[in-house]
Amino acid sequence: MVIRCRVNRNQHYRWYAIVGLLLGFELGIAASVSPLRELAAWDTLSPIGGSTETVFAPAAEIDQSYFLPNNSIPTHYSISLETDIHQNVRTFRATTWVYLTILEPSDRITMHLQELTIMEARLYRVASSGGQAIEIDQPARIVNIALEHVTFRTAATLPTGNYALRIVYTGIMLNYQSGYLASQYRNEQDQWRYVGSTHFQATHARRLLPCYDEPALKATFDLQIRHHRDYKAIANMPRTSIEIDPTNREYLISVFETTPRMSTYLLAFAVTDFATRENGKHQVVARSNAINDADYALQVGATILERLEDYLGVPYYEYMPKLTSIAIPDRGTGAMENWGLVTYGEPVMLYNPTVNTYRNRKDVTTIIAHEYAHQWFGDLVSPLWWQYIWLNEGFATLFQYYATRLAVPGDEYWELFNGEVIQRAFQDDASETIHSMNQNAATPQEILALFDSIAYKKAGSVLNMFRNVLGESSWQEGLKQYLKDYELTVASDSTLSFYLQQAVEGNDILPQGVKVQDLLASWTNAPGFPVLTVNRLYRDGWMILSQNRFMNGKVLPVEHVWHIPYNYAYASSASFYDLSQYDWLAAPAAKIASTVPDNEWVVFNKQQTGYYRVNYDRRNWELLIEALHANHIAIHRLNRAQLIDDAFHLARADLLDMSVVLRLLRYLRNERDYAPWQAADQVLTFLYEQLHGTEHEHAFLIFMDELIEEVYATLSVDTVNPGETTLYKYLKQLITGWACRIGYKDCLQRSREALRKEYSTPSAGETAVPVHPDVRAVVYCHGLQEDTEPEFQAIYMRLMNSRNQAERTDLLKALGCSQNENSLRTLLATIVLSASPGTNFIYLSEERAQLLNAVTTGTTGVGIATFVDVYSDTVSLQTAISIAGAGAMESAVRNVAAQCNTPQEREQLETLLKAVTGYVSSATVNSARALATAKLDWFNSAEALIVAEFLESYNNI
Ligand SMILES: [Zn+2]
Repeated sequence: MVIRCRVNRNQHYRWYAIVGLLLGFELGIAASVSPLRELAAWDTLSPIGGSTETVFAPAAEIDQSYFLPNNSIPTHYSISLETDIHQNVRTFRATTWVYLTILEPSDRITMHLQELTIMEARLYRVASSGGQAIEIDQPARIVNIALEHVTFRTAATLPTGNYALRIVYTGIMLNYQSGYLASQYRNEQDQWRYVGSTHFQATHARRLLPCYDEPALKATFDLQIRHHRDYKAIANMPRTSIEIDPTNREYLISVFETTPRMSTYLLAFAVTDFATRENGKHQVVARSNAINDADYALQVGATILERLEDYLGVPYYEYMPKLTSIAIPDRGTGAMENWGLVTYGEPVMLYNPTVNTYRNRKDVTTIIAHEYAHQWFGDLVSPLWWQYIWLNEGFATLFQYYATRLAVPGDEYWELFNGEVIQRAFQDDASETIHSMNQNAATPQEILALFDSIAYKKAGSVLNMFRNVLGESSWQEGLKQYLKDYELTVASDSTLSFYLQQAVEGNDILPQGVKVQDLLASWTNAPGFPVLTVNRLYRDGWMILSQNRFMNGKVLPVEHVWHIPYNYAYASSASFYDLSQYDWLAAPAAKIASTVPDNEWVVFNKQQTGYYRVNYDRRNWELLIEALHANHIAIHRLNRAQLIDDAFHLARADLLDMSVVLRLLRYLRNERDYAPWQAADQVLTFLYEQLHGTEHEHAFLIFMDELIEEVYATLSVDTVNPGETTLYKYLKQLITGWACRIGYKDCLQRSREALRKEYSTPSAGETAVPVHPDVRAVVYCHGLQEDTEPEFQAIYMRLMNSRNQAERTDLLKALGCSQNENSLRTLLATIVLSASPGTNFIYLSEERAQLLNAVTTGTTGVGIATFVDVYSDTVSLQTAISIAGAGAMESAVRNVAAQCNTPQEREQLETLLKAVTGYVSSATVNSARALATAKLDWFNSAEALIVAEFLESYNNI
């Protein structure tokens, strides 16, 4: 059945009408889905063959007044912009022609606008046969600041037809994260240089030009930019000409080719004095004192693009003549997929193997893969409305890893997908208040809030589940056709289902009568995700499967029935690599027959391809623990990770005894694979943070020691061998980090020694031996723990001299590990010193926050004690907040609360909270206090008693 959505119904009809008009094709055919189906964002379907009908409450009413009225649509923009960013001038002037079609007679044309000052607007009639535009009116302008709308009102009603509005205006470059933005950097001569770049997603193209700023209202764009002659302008498209401005020879006018039809949020340009490297039509741009660090992006980016083209069957260069990646200084670690001109924060595009780590390399590779995947998923085919932003971000998140499997398989990044995407998505998706993938939104704030882990990680996981369930070739076929048929237009989840359905038609991948659309809708329309519970009857293989929504700390009755694809492996049929067969649980519960012998373990959800947790009856958990201890590799590494992650979160939600988790973890002493260790790391971190400083800490350390002792002996904390793989490096950092943290003498001594050797002075007669960047995190942090002022100062100097943002972040983090109170005080003082004129202490915009974070999360209590002492003084506190921002201080206060276990630590926290009250938000003070109280209360919980009991008895074995 279909339940009509009570919200936004007209909006959806309107979209279909407009998109149909724009593209001139029949949507009814293309989607083969009734528009009503599209409306049913909040209905859920009956389980296959069953009769249960469930209905979710609709989303809160969205405010439709934020949508543009549908009486006119854009066809083309012609923008002419003047910028003086070379002088750090934060305003710009522009003239934009908006070509539009009036669809129904009206005296109003409404579009978006934000913080632009219009000086003049003239309306022209444009004959469809071409020819001269004829001025017909100078319309009045009504700006609605709240809605970010501007309405041009004409003297007479305009008949349907084509028009053009010529608008002359000025705009400002504020310190926002979006719009036309200014950034600064120091060049080779140590002079500050100012550059401009854009970021318009989701609703900020309207800060550059009056426009129809909704993703379905696609149009073509012409752009020309007047800028200083020492600067270069780049944009989505190649430049067609560059001329000297005849009115002022200091300036150049760069003119760009017309873009394909695209959404406003994808428009982009940059005005810089940067250098370019290119390989054919693929190019990278960065400040010239960092351009060498862009070589890796140039090389790996080209390979990724090629592999994506092959996989998706749609050549990139058929639509766009070039692809540029540009690194923007001091713009954090984000990136944006503007069509043909991808922008990145420097740490996710620049990679220098002599100072950057394997993790930076992984970030660069996977972020490029993410943004390049968007060139198809988002740029070529865009979301019908922000409600479907998960189609952009889900695909980009999946290909962020999957494209690296195609392009650089040896780097093993695809192996990280389960731990970094699926298991991370579970954490946010287990909240009671979480929204569904198809959540709707109207206001700019609501729209922005949709860019969360549901749109990225959950959608990526759900799409990956369908990739597996439908089979790689059907999946790939479906995507190819989807992209081809919907090129240059917009799509929704129904569109995707339609093409995936077409691809599986005729082969019996899905059960009789079941459609992809029904299956996908069961995951996209409901919030949360299920836990599949397997109760074995231990009678000739019979099992009862049941499903419930999984929530942190809650057990709820069945509210929604997911279509859960499942498969399983068992001891005598450990077929973990065979993902060709799935069965479906499409009811609240079902009794199934199987061939699993009663005395063997069974594991559901092979390689964790399905987006759900699995719980078992106690006996099966015992069989699994036994198997892991006897021969853990009989179970696939991704399932070992799944067992750890599921068991821990099931226990935290009271669905499993925590002692099962702890007994299961003991097998880790034999574990050499990263995935299970990554899953275990969060469990061990949780336990460590709860027990640190308490009477149970010692027992926990003995437990930890047993887990890592053998694997630690096989790793070298301070050196890197040429043959080490990515996953080996991840494992090494994790294990050596724990070893040093729990006080392994070997680990601490080697770290200390490696640090000393790097920074020993020539006068000591020693040659400096640099620490390899790939082991730097552990070596620096733990090497700095003793009284190491000279090394601390040397690292600080290195930080001040470094122009590599990713390296700077690592160095700041390391400095926070110091146990030397004087060093830490000096470090905190640099926040204030960095604000004085002509200072040598120069921080990038996020680095003061990183510094406070480093000091309050370092490995020992000295950092927190120093922090509390320094900022208990009101003047110091006020000064630091005025420079670093209240947000940075608030997050540091939360760090202090999160490490509060003992009465002394609680006292310390109270001192801090008393000092900061009135200077940080009261919500921060209250939540810090609540967090600390919850931590202390934990010791009275059954969970804590079980943990304590286990650890004590374990130590007595
Ligand atoms: Zn993205």
